[in-house]
Amino acid sequence: MQRKVLGKTIDQWVEETPIIADMIDYKPVFWLNDSIEDWEETTYNNLELSWKDVLEAEERWIRFAPLIAKLFPETEPQSGIIESRLQELPHMKEAINNNYKVAIQGRLFLKCDNALPVAGSIKARGGIYEVLKHAEQLAMNNNILKEDQDYSILADKEAREFFSGYSLAVGSTGNLGLSIGIMGAALGFKVTVHMSADAKQWKKDLLRSKGVSVVEYESDYSKAVEEGRRLAMLDPMCHFVDDEHSKDLFLGYSAAAIRLKRQLDENNIKIDKQNPLFVYLPCGVGGAPGGICFGLKQIFRDAVQCFFVEPTHSPCMLLGLSTKENDQVSVQDFGIDNVTEGDGLAVGRASGFVGKVMEKLLSGVYTIEDDELYRLLALLKDSEGIEIEPSAAASLKGPVALINAKAGIDYAGHNATHIAWATGGSFVPEDMKRDFYEKGKRLLEL
Ligand SMILES: *Cc1c(COP(=O)(O)O)cnc(C)c1O
Repeated sequence: MQRKVLGKTIDQWVEETPIIADMIDYKPVFWLNDSIEDWEETTYNNLELSWKDVLEAEERWIRFAPLIAKLFPETEPQSGIIESRLQELPHMKEAINNNYKVAIQGRLFLKCDNALPVAGSIKARGGIYEVLKHAEQLAMNNNILKEDQDYSILADKEAREFFSGYSLAVGSTGNLGLSIGIMGAALGFKVTVHMSADAKQWKKDLLRSKGVSVVEYESDYSKAVEEGRRLAMLDPMCHFVDDEHSKDLFLGYSAAAIRLKRQLDENNIKIDKQNPLFVYLPCGVGGAPGGICFGLKQIFRDAVQCFFVEPTHSPCMLLGLSTKENDQVSVQDFGIDNVTEGDGLAVGRASGFVGKVMEKLLSGVYTIEDDELYRLLALLKDSEGIEIEPSAAASLKGPVALINAKAGIDYAGHNATHIAWATGGSFVPEDMKRDFYEKGKRLLEL
């Protein structure tokens, strides 16, 4: 008997949603979302979250800045605001054009979250935000902090002792665990990170060196989250950071849009319908790219088009969106193995909450092969001297995927601004960085 998913055979699914056939064969695909709505229509009123929530998140980041500057001196030059630079990639644009035989028009930038302080990845936005918000609530409820006070008092001994009575837990493929562990431990929380089998040893070692408990699983991300959630529920003093459902994580990420707007202004880049912005975001469970897309849509509306990128072996968001079944389906249901070397991207089932919000906001999704990640990583290092991790390199395929798709996208030629979101890299140990690069060079020479 043929395997059935939600009562339908795979053949029936393929008939209804033909792109699934290529996904099952691990072929790179490009999918345009025909459910996207013009901003003016119904979008604005029909979302659970709003612009006000994004602003509140940014205000909270600002309140915490003095504390962050105190706990993490590397953030002092930016006064405790955890932010990355926006860097133009003129040489990489050339290198991509030569390598892929395309002609990217417009300007290409890298959003350098690979170098975000404190956590070394995009998770510094969401993970740290949720820890801070939780700490703020606890401290206020217990009269340790008032909203108009200087938050750096939370670095004092008294506050640390207070937080040590509470615990945090999270399920992670690695980078989210790092952000929660590093920030939680810095405040004094007891932190437990439930790591999926694909999590790298160096991340576990780094966390243990900070006094974080690391529980290792032989299964994938969804299982680590489920088990972590179950155990945390048994402990009333424990807050579980729920990557599959958390609105706080999502909003922490969304504040990036406000910062990016400022950086575009500083570069005198005007974004409107005639001068559109294309943003390419690597997607795992969906919180990080979803939060950023949400924030950007609030600011730029129809002038921004966001595309997610997933590995060909872990296209969970694409599967959820293209079938419209959201988190009711997993890639494993379709025999797709969820094995990828893109850290943070090995997720078989997307966040249902994020999927629902993206339905009306996201322009599309493309998938990419692991080998391609290494090639792009090496091209970037050779052309611009920037080192990123393989998952982050997925974003650099964006303009190529768009051009090759020829799917009736109004691509605006020279007036377009393209931003590839580099999601991680700076914490990767030097020997691994070298291995990544050498692998990319070998693949480029084939
Ligand atoms: C977590 C992560 C992503 C994707 O974020 P999600 O919220 O899981 O979708 C992308 N790149 C890197 C390096 C990550 O760590």
